[in-house]
Amino acid sequence: MARRFCAACGRESEVLIKGLCPECFTTRVGGAKGTPSRFRVTVCRFCGRVKRGTRWVEAGSFPAAVDVAVGMLIERLKPVEPLEGVELERWEPLSEPDWRTRVLIRLSLSYKGVAIPYTIDTHIELEPSICPLCEIRQSGEYDTLVQVRGASSVDVRREVEKALEHASVWDALIEVIESRDGIDVYFTHRGAASKFVKALTRARQASISRTRHEIVGTNRSGKTRTRKTITVRLK
Ligand SMILES: [Zn+2]
Ligand SMILES: [Zn+2]
Repeated sequence: MARRFCAACGRESEVLIKGLCPECFTTRVGGAKGTPSRFRVTVCRFCGRVKRGTRWVEAGSFPAAVDVAVGMLIERLKPVEPLEGVELERWEPLSEPDWRTRVLIRLSLSYKGVAIPYTIDTHIELEPSICPLCEIRQSGEYDTLVQVRGASSVDVRREVEKALEHASVWDALIEVIESRDGIDVYFTHRGAASKFVKALTRARQASISRTRHEIVGTNRSGKTRTRKTITVRLK
């Protein structure tokens, strides 16, 4: 096979991309489009979860939050033609992980099946905010929380959707929040919550494993306000 040389640096290279060696191609033409000089993500300052699309993803520490952010950033990158694919090799912090972290992201692009390394140097900025769950917890403005749990074989999300549809208690529904353990459904009043629980347990085998009352203060007329938590386990 004929020996091939880079048109820019003159070095011999087995892979030439538009006449350039991978290094010259990525420095002169680029590697991935859409690389920002800083990338912002929203983080709940109470629980540390990161907002990813419409969901809040568990993080819990600065490095974990930066890791989620790096994943989000990479999804937005597009390889510069004729390169293909953008994959994360690893990232490393160039400053102590914090609200603003300088990171070096090592990517792997590909050209005709050959891996082409490409590095991004950027800042990840975490914007403190409050997630819906912490907002509810902080304000205490819910009356009943139904925690729906199930074995891994159970599609808890689907069951909750069906039960909500069936119970038709939208007026009293505050929020449906997916957590690591299952799904939490917040209601403004008890009647609606019990309708929902009934719909849930009618549809499939379930047990109400725990009911808990908690005093949260007094209302305007001086009566004690309580909050109720019901845990339903689907079988
Ligand atoms: Zn070169
Ligand atoms: Zn939160």
